[in-house]
Amino acid sequence: MNIILLGPQGSGKGTQARMLSEKLGLVHVDVGAHLRNLSKNDQKLDKIINEIGALLPDKEVFAIVTKYLKEIAPDGRNILFDGYPRGIRQYNLMKNWLIKKGTKFDAAIYLDIKEKESVRRLSARRVCCQCGAIYNLITNLPPRKGYCACGGRLMQREDDKPRVIRKRLALYYQQTAPLVDFLTNEGILIRVDGEKPIEIVFQTILSRLGI
Ligand SMILES: [Zn+2]
Repeated sequence: MNIILLGPQGSGKGTQARMLSEKLGLVHVDVGAHLRNLSKNDQKLDKIINEIGALLPDKEVFAIVTKYLKEIAPDGRNILFDGYPRGIRQYNLMKNWLIKKGTKFDAAIYLDIKEKESVRRLSARRVCCQCGAIYNLITNLPPRKGYCACGGRLMQREDDKPRVIRKRLALYYQQTAPLVDFLTNEGILIRVDGEKPIEIVFQTILSRLGI
């Protein structure tokens, strides 16, 4: 079973990706993390992704992803696609590639979360300015208010401020909405309430997949 996992930041996508790939024996293909890794040794890629904040051309991402798949998911292992495809063209390129391999996309799970809840979760993140440890005022409290276990002061990163989060979310919705509609028409979209507790979200996904 090949699955696409979609959801904005704060939807718990990373957690569900780990749980699902473990339970279903899927190879978790985190394309965002892979691109960030590649960009560390590739100035051109780094500039596009991190400085300009732009998306790579569809064909270029496709080439990167298929090369990566050959490395980490050989022998037709089943895949959990995370952070890819992000648009209809990317979806079609990968769909055809899978068909040639005698397989297909079986489901696309969309973790639905309201902007307000997403902002609430993400803006609760705090980082230690000494050791870099990450806390969350909702899910992972520091030992002492405002301070890390190491004694360092906790700070809120610029990226975790509501104004910046809202901007990022708006971009995500704008990019992903057409794909979500398309996947609905393809008959493979499963929309799950991502605001529920982790275990409930997980069980809902499994039951919707018929597992
Ligand atoms: Zn610390």
